[in-house]
Amino acid sequence: MNQNKVIYLDNNATTAVDPEVFEAMRPFFCERYGNPSSIHRFGGSVAADIEEARRQVADLLGSKFRDTDGNAAEIIFTSCGSEGDNAAINAAVNARPGRNKIVTTSVEHPGVLAYCRELSRRGFEIEYIPVDERGRLDLDYAERAIDDSTAVVSVMWANNETGTIFPVETVARMAHARGALFHTDAVQAAGKVPIDLDASEIDFLSISGHKLHAPKGVGALFVRKGTRFKPLIFGGHQEKGRRGGTENVASIIGLGRACAIARKNLSAENIQLTKLRNRLEEGVQQRISHIRINGDLANRLPNTSSISFEYIEGESILMLLDMMNICASSGSACTTGSLEPSHVLRAMGLPYTAAHGTIRFSLSKYNTEEEIDYVIEALPPIIERLRAISPYWTGRDK
Ligand code: PLP
Repeated sequence: MNQNKVIYLDNNATTAVDPEVFEAMRPFFCERYGNPSSIHRFGGSVAADIEEARRQVADLLGSKFRDTDGNAAEIIFTSCGSEGDNAAINAAVNARPGRNKIVTTSVEHPGVLAYCRELSRRGFEIEYIPVDERGRLDLDYAERAIDDSTAVVSVMWANNETGTIFPVETVARMAHARGALFHTDAVQAAGKVPIDLDASEIDFLSISGHKLHAPKGVGALFVRKGTRFKPLIFGGHQEKGRRGGTENVASIIGLGRACAIARKNLSAENIQLTKLRNRLEEGVQQRISHIRINGDLANRLPNTSSISFEYIEGESILMLLDMMNICASSGSACTTGSLEPSHVLRAMGLPYTAAHGTIRFSLSKYNTEEEIDYVIEALPPIIERLRAISPYWTGRDK
């Protein structure tokens, strides 16, 4: 194996742009660079390409509604997953005036959590549904937390650190039973698991391009037809007045193409990724003692593996992996750099000695068995070396 090649197992942080996506985007930089809002045909013709991309996004998500122009009007293009999360919660609280409670989970991405904290500073009450040691949501708690004062419930479709998939439909029904709206952050789920919004109660769903082989800086927000929507970004009349700002045309085209590719390959990729992920986990389990695999193992994304190597520091493992050109992450990308275990692992109640040594491997369609085998061989000497100098390992109860 070529040691100079980067083995990229950090796809929940970001993914490579698919070359086919890149080719679809290319004409929109130097040739077809017009503004879709322009009256002239040079610019105006681009609007049709944006609508095609909107349909491609809608098709991946199972959003069947088309307006009188045939446009997939439930999809709003955004700049990223975080914007979609903020915009959805903002719209929901505005659509339910008089209700001042937001119910979410303790393991959301900061795109939801930080916005909820901001809203709590503005007077909203935020309630966090806890998870168990496998990262599963406490549905009894959710049932009690969601009440007549709840404006919106926001529960992610799949967790970015453990891959655990949440019962979003069940919680959406609970929300509706109390007159609240329901949002899901599907940034990690879109393109990895089937989504059928047509047969769903979800009101808002956010996705992000760079997690599914489209570029960074583009995302989409689904807003169910008939749901009152107050924009987060006021400006021009783009996106039917729901999101001001000249469209990021090339990236929108890229997102559309990435969604079309994901939709076509979803089930085959699911099988391929599950096989690779299982190969990695079995290989690690056979060669290294005192590990634990985190999350709801029976119900998680096919590409994600969160492994705790007990009694050592995840950051040290990452550094040694990095020296071998292997990219992974400890906790979520956003908590990298801090030595505190991530809020997700803390919410799951992982013991200190396990939480600190947790590495997230997240795979993509571009990974190969050869790469996984290389990682399986690389890990044992790294773990052995770090445990040899770890006071927790030498001093542990045997
Ligand atoms: N939600 C989840 C679950 C994520 O994993 C991420 C990114 O890591 C985001 C939201 C934020 O997406 P973006 O980077 O496009 O803002």
